[in-house]
Amino acid sequence: MNRAIFLDRDGTISTKEGIHEHPEYVELFPFTIDVIKKINQSPFLVIIATNQAGIGRGYFPVEKLIESFKKVQNELIAKDTYINGFYYCPHREDATIDKYKIKCACRKPGSGMLLKAAQDFDIDLENSYMIGDTMADIGAGLNAGLKTGLVLTGDTVMQKDEVETFHPDFIFPNIEQAVDTILSLENFSGLKKEIKKDLFFIREC
Ligand SMILES: [Zn+2]
Repeated sequence: MNRAIFLDRDGTISTKEGIHEHPEYVELFPFTIDVIKKINQSPFLVIIATNQAGIGRGYFPVEKLIESFKKVQNELIAKDTYINGFYYCPHREDATIDKYKIKCACRKPGSGMLLKAAQDFDIDLENSYMIGDTMADIGAGLNAGLKTGLVLTGDTVMQKDEVETFHPDFIFPNIEQAVDTILSLENFSGLKKEIKKDLFFIREC
């Protein structure tokens, strides 16, 4: 089986600036490209799992989101690195667009996106990680049985009582320190990773 580091998008690999006004543009943090390259060079897959209820609320169309994923991937490929898969949930119970108005098991803290990726990529979830900046990210990771890391780069940093409820395994200033720590802790013997960038894909839950 494969192992993966799942990353949230907004507030984790990229800023939350302007994402509703310009959803096709995603501004990666300065360290993000190097971090993803380090994961590529390890046996871990790197997979994005992102709630995008702005689609269900009519803030922007799904095409803009897809465009943003492709732009990020192209930016990475230009630096000889890549993300294996992008999973997103456009749903929310109070969505204004009918087809997105459902209580979805994929919406974090639901674990649906992680479980789908596990099927697609044959991932050993127990030995994988979920890293994000909100309690929804930590909850999703816990619900799917992953190890979890909270990063403090988002604008919705968890409150103390939330940290006590959700118990992230690690708290890091950012994904650079998160991934450096995880890779330094791991023993990679006997693991496989045969999936390459030509199998990269985008999947709606
Ligand atoms: Zn969904």
